[in-house]
Amino acid sequence: MELFDQIGSMGHEKVLICSNPQVGLKAIIAVHNTVLGPGLGGCRMWPYESFDEAMMDALRLSRGMTYKAAATGLNLGGAKAVIIGDSKKDKTEELLRAFGRAVDSLGGLYITAEDVGMRMQDMEVILGETRWVTGVSEAHGGSGDPSPVTAYGVLQGVKAAVEWKFGGDDLSGKRVAIQGLGSVGRYLAENLIREGAHVVGTDVDAEAIEKAKQLGVEIVGIDEIVDVECDVFSPCALGASINPETIPRLKCAIVAGGANNQLADEQRDGQALTDRGILYAPDYVINAGGLINVYNELNGYNRERALLMTRHISDNVHRIFEVAKEQSVPTHVAANRLAENRIERMRNGLNVHQWSRFTGGRGMSTRS
Ligand code: NAD
Repeated sequence: MELFDQIGSMGHEKVLICSNPQVGLKAIIAVHNTVLGPGLGGCRMWPYESFDEAMMDALRLSRGMTYKAAATGLNLGGAKAVIIGDSKKDKTEELLRAFGRAVDSLGGLYITAEDVGMRMQDMEVILGETRWVTGVSEAHGGSGDPSPVTAYGVLQGVKAAVEWKFGGDDLSGKRVAIQGLGSVGRYLAENLIREGAHVVGTDVDAEAIEKAKQLGVEIVGIDEIVDVECDVFSPCALGASINPETIPRLKCAIVAGGANNQLADEQRDGQALTDRGILYAPDYVINAGGLINVYNELNGYNRERALLMTRHISDNVHRIFEVAKEQSVPTHVAANRLAENRIERMRNGLNVHQWSRFTGGRGMSTRS
């Protein structure tokens, strides 16, 4: 009964538990909200220690996708899948295809994509069982690696925050400290350097550092990055890097990066940044380029359209800052309110075109 209470309190519409002992599949598909459209969210394969841990991850991540899609102005709901297992040892073609059949059984209510432990090639195996899959290669009509588009979106978020804080979005001479120079961090560094910014960065991986050095990134130690004097601190590694230990050390005007779940505790740390006068560009709003990219696969992928829609992240961020100022709330609260308001308006039958400026005027339906 506790599980029903949990699902009910988080507002999920449907949770599918998939079991196929013949192929070792243990998976959960959590559909949080489909008011705006079908739930699109990645599938994570992870060796969870218990069913409860996997369930909580699926519930939490799927709810996060509802907010990301809603705040981005996409006609998508929120959903996510988790497969319990070690992606290096347990992932087989039979398992992926059984998962694909489970996705298919939802008839488009859930559309899957890559997440931790899943790659583009896995999506192409799943495509053998269902058409409700994105994140496949360009050869399969997909959009390929989303990281360049995610980084391009983060750049729009950085520019919007710089404009809000300094009165113009020119990045020349601005100092940006990037924590994590992997796919998103590296593409972001490349974009920033092209715009004339000075980029300082760090990574735990020697190869990532070497590639960043070649771009012209100044490298500092892993722990030093938080103390770097800069205009923008950009978390692009793992979550929870903004926490009570790091917030007092930050010497930046803005936090804007690509990592998911940057605030270790949303309420506490979002408020603490506001109290220090640091402008926070909410993570799920500015890293939505990857979602925009796969969303564009649903209507026949077009790179130009995906990039155009990604550019509108800047408008979105400005709107969030305006609401935060008007309502005297931290920016993460403003983002959540905008997302919730949009869902409520649609639930009540008002139309999506009020948000059309965030989608470049496109009211694309994914219910085809
Ligand atoms: P990635 O694995 O390519 O890069 C992450 C990098 O962070 C790696 O190089 C890793 O070595 C480094 N790292 C790990 N711990 C670190 C630490 N303590 N200090 C410094 N560096 C550290 O992953 P990615 O695809 O670039 O994603 C980065 C973040 O952006 C993740 O939080 C991811 O969830 C989020 N994100 C990615 C996309 C996308 O399109 N790839 C979309 C939305 C959100």
